[in-house]
Amino acid sequence: MSARVKQFLKETIDEDLFGNSMASHHVAGRLAFMKIEQARAKAAELLGLKDSKSVIFTGSATEANNLVINGFWLRFRDRGCRVLYSAIEHKSALESCQRIATFAGCQAHEIPIDSNGNVDLDVLKTHLKDNPKRLPTLVVMMHTNNEIPVRFPVESISELCQEHRAYFHCDAVQGIVRERIQVDKQSYGSLVISPHKFYGPKGVGILCLSDQSTCTPLAPFIIGGDQEFGMRPGTLNTHGILASIDALKELDETRANLVKHMTSCQNAFISTLQASPKFHRTIPTSHHAPGIVNFYLENWDALTLLSKLSKTCINRGASCTGAGGEKFSHVPRALGLPLEIQANVLRASFGWGCSVENAVEAAREILDICRNK
Ligand code: PLP
Repeated sequence: MSARVKQFLKETIDEDLFGNSMASHHVAGRLAFMKIEQARAKAAELLGLKDSKSVIFTGSATEANNLVINGFWLRFRDRGCRVLYSAIEHKSALESCQRIATFAGCQAHEIPIDSNGNVDLDVLKTHLKDNPKRLPTLVVMMHTNNEIPVRFPVESISELCQEHRAYFHCDAVQGIVRERIQVDKQSYGSLVISPHKFYGPKGVGILCLSDQSTCTPLAPFIIGGDQEFGMRPGTLNTHGILASIDALKELDETRANLVKHMTSCQNAFISTLQASPKFHRTIPTSHHAPGIVNFYLENWDALTLLSKLSKTCINRGASCTGAGGEKFSHVPRALGLPLEIQANVLRASFGWGCSVENAVEAAREILDICRNK
């Protein structure tokens, strides 16, 4: 967490905000409710939504992706529906799409990417056009990938969705860190962000539903409460939500510097590692998606290398892939890398938690291990 958000969170905990925001019959509940609604209104303003009811708080972006994709199927389960999703979605979106594909009446198509990480818009177009039963269609495409430095052409995807009356759900967890996002202006149907990616607390996800006719239609996935307009029952994490919106405000003020910093770190890391001819990036860096380096070291088993690092924290794939264990990520497979490389791909990512000097030190630690094999 950023120093500012940490301080804000401490002050919020010290304020008497323990009342349940749904308990409108007593003063403590009403106070918590008022604070949450203020935070919701600020989030809507910062994310370009006119109606604050378009903002739904969840427990994580993983939960929000599950809510949208399962909720879309639930809404249309009698009529049938379709889901078109990219091969490199975060697992929370990918596996939700794969699972609803097994449910009655759902047709699903995975849209491939090429070896540079570009999503095949021609395949997407073909599937969008080929809809003789005019089934409601949800397109699930992330803004920016979390393992490879790739930003999808969300503007073109959004246009295609409008042209073919499909709904566009976008996982912008990584995108918002790098770019300002205005949900309605950019015609997203629904969009998800995660405050712990921009120095807010863990345990909060933010789902934005468009104010426009492009809004992704949903039925609640979790049931048993009226919170979040019935869309996401469960007692709200008042302190976490307030601190998350403070982090969103801070992100808007600091994003340009963060992007510069991530770029400097990534460049220092790469140029230090380039001293070894065994260092290879799976795809080149992109100024659209700074701060992520996806690479492997020839003849090095990724798990062995990770086990020897004592100072550097990098991963094999995303953390949620159980990256330290036996499983490895679907992303190198989607890039079409040979099997022996897929298993040994590493991902380094950078942010305020790391200085340029730290990035150089990390690269040196990796080089030293490789030299002393
Ligand atoms: N989507 C992307 C692109 C991510 O990078 C992550 C986090 O790693 C998630 C979704 C899941 O977010 P959360 O940790 O809030 O569940």
